[in-house]
Amino acid sequence: MEVVNPSGLFVAVRYNCAMSKPLEMNYCPCCGHALIDKFIFGRVRRKCPECGFVFFRDPKVAAGVLAEQDGKVLLVKRLYDPHQGDWALPAGFVEIDEGPVQAALRELTEETGLIGRIRGIVGTFHIRSDPRGSIVTILYHAQIVGGQLHAGDDAAEVRLFAPDELPQNLAFASTRQALHRWLRSKKSGLA
Ligand SMILES: [Zn+2]
Repeated sequence: MEVVNPSGLFVAVRYNCAMSKPLEMNYCPCCGHALIDKFIFGRVRRKCPECGFVFFRDPKVAAGVLAEQDGKVLLVKRLYDPHQGDWALPAGFVEIDEGPVQAALRELTEETGLIGRIRGIVGTFHIRSDPRGSIVTILYHAQIVGGQLHAGDDAAEVRLFAPDELPQNLAFASTRQALHRWLRSKKSGLA
């Protein structure tokens, strides 16, 4: 299925199977043989009876930013499921050839058009309820140092919210928890 964002640009191809359930490994990526379930290293894992490959299921890693400007926080209205139409911090999955800081800044620029600089860490968040599976999200404090604000990849809309105008429909537990910490720090005068 092709997806077009409001700018008219083709932005992604999405597969429904990946959204309906966490992906399972059924065949050996080394030799192609069907994998079997076997109790190994303390729990049941998928193993290749042909070549011995063991599949370790582990969380996906995502990274993003809590970027503040003039006392307001930058949020992105999601263009896609999960949580299409809800608001989230700019974030996305870390690619295989980048670190989480690089990924967080890349996602900021791709989704909002803004360029950031990392100023510290908000926290790490383990999300179990995402339909794509278990996700560890690393969120950083970022300072905006350039760029032009516009809705880019994965974004239907981007805008800055004051503490008293945050939307109710927040997309992920990580967004809610990070914004809760942000509000608490502002009330205590730390931010
Ligand atoms: Zn194999």
